[in-house]
Amino acid sequence: MDNNPATNNTAATVNSLKVAVVGTGYVGMGTAVMLAYLGHQVVGIDIDQNKVDMLSRGELPIYEPGLEDLLIESKDRLRWTTDYSTAIPGADVIFICVGTPPLPSGQPNLNYVAEAARSVAKNLNGKLQVVVNKSTVPVGTGDWVSRIIEDNALDYASGQYVVVSNPEFLREGTALQDSLYPDRIVLGSNSPEGIARLEQLYAPLLQQTFTAPSIAPRPETYGLPQLVKTSLSSAEMIKYAANAFLALKISFANEVAGLCECVDADIEQVTRGIGFDQRIGHRFLSAGAGWGGSCFGKDTAALISTGSEYGYSMPILRAAVEVNQRQRHLIINKLQRHLRRLQGKKVAVLGLAFKPNTDDLRDAPAHDCIHRLTELGAEVVVHDPVAMPHARGQWAHLKYQEAESAEAAMQGADAVIVMTEWDDYRHMDWDKALSGMRRRLIIDSRNILATVPENTTIEQIGRVHAAQPSTVGAGALT
Ligand code: NAD
Repeated sequence: MDNNPATNNTAATVNSLKVAVVGTGYVGMGTAVMLAYLGHQVVGIDIDQNKVDMLSRGELPIYEPGLEDLLIESKDRLRWTTDYSTAIPGADVIFICVGTPPLPSGQPNLNYVAEAARSVAKNLNGKLQVVVNKSTVPVGTGDWVSRIIEDNALDYASGQYVVVSNPEFLREGTALQDSLYPDRIVLGSNSPEGIARLEQLYAPLLQQTFTAPSIAPRPETYGLPQLVKTSLSSAEMIKYAANAFLALKISFANEVAGLCECVDADIEQVTRGIGFDQRIGHRFLSAGAGWGGSCFGKDTAALISTGSEYGYSMPILRAAVEVNQRQRHLIINKLQRHLRRLQGKKVAVLGLAFKPNTDDLRDAPAHDCIHRLTELGAEVVVHDPVAMPHARGQWAHLKYQEAESAEAAMQGADAVIVMTEWDDYRHMDWDKALSGMRRRLIIDSRNILATVPENTTIEQIGRVHAAQPSTVGAGALT
């Protein structure tokens, strides 16, 4: 339902622009679908033919709630291709949304951005076109992209394109809500024309004049997004600083959680208590297995590495990274506390994705957990509601068995570790699932269980439970 009285236009009534989106991964796909839904004519370009074929058939190559519905609803304004020459010349706005994965140095690999910029440059039309960097790139990359375009544009009068930085803040799992109802839109450029064109592009979002889709209703309390206009370099820095701050918040909660365990306080009560302070807030203040995903690790490393380039140390961020690494070891330590040697023990791991509602496995804590468990000789059985097919390809180097349900994974296991806080695990019949285990031992690394099932030993993060005998099953320590 559309709750905003200011909203009476339909998507089709906007001042439509022609848009090309380069890179149709988590960000590019969401951006393309959202802009088409708002009424623009959009072409998504990717070098991955398989992805392009799937999208052209109206299928999503990733799991993202609601996005497939919007893709189908907006299909008349959407096209997908691998061919730059059919997409770039006609575009008023060109988004670069390719990946920027981390290099061993901590700096992001900018080869994909460079390749995309070269391909864009070769297909520019000589009129004013706005190239928008949506990939997360180090400060200064916008200028570098301009140089690449200048060096590679064919038969092109310099100065007729402009580069704008428009960092993306969507979260996987809630991409639709985040894209349609953002807190802010950041536009960084030294070109007023570039900013003006993007204001035109985003007008339906900035004024919230589109009809909210039924799968992503406008939140009742939502007003209008803030438009933040900055220099190119400030926009690039805003993205890194935002992610670094969120990462800090999580690490802070984890550091306090460790002390809670020492003094017998409960981190859930503590974060609840401090989060009501509006200067602090509850979000991203969760203790657990630590952050993962494609952004926080990569972006904190990139910021630290940029600091080093200038001889500038960032001790707060370094500490946040260290705390995050410690959390991953902590889970195995908690398991060892009860099982001692893990050689030959069967351990069920629930959740592979780095967070719920996504199938993204990048930098997922479950990866390190499974790796360490097998290194220590444990037999690992895993379950995840959506990420297992991706893991077959991406985690082929890990040794584990798949189970078709959480209960099946726990059958005969010496312990179960909750790695991802899927609602499925929160709401499952724990008593029933535990009854099939060799030993009723839960390592709940996401604190999803509010109460301790009977006759069960549980370890959580930042809260101490009175020791309970694990009497069920043949659970003697061996
Ligand atoms: P992704 O790996 O899911 O997608 C990147 C896509 O780019 C792939 O489909 C790949 O095939 C394509 N590609 C690579 N080179 C190409 C080229 N030369 N031409 C056309 N396509 C090409 O990446 P992602 O998660 O969407 O992230 C993209 C950027 O957005 C990164 O910089 C990331 O840090 C940033 N970001 C990601 C998120 C997130 O939640 N995933 C959120 C905010 C910002």
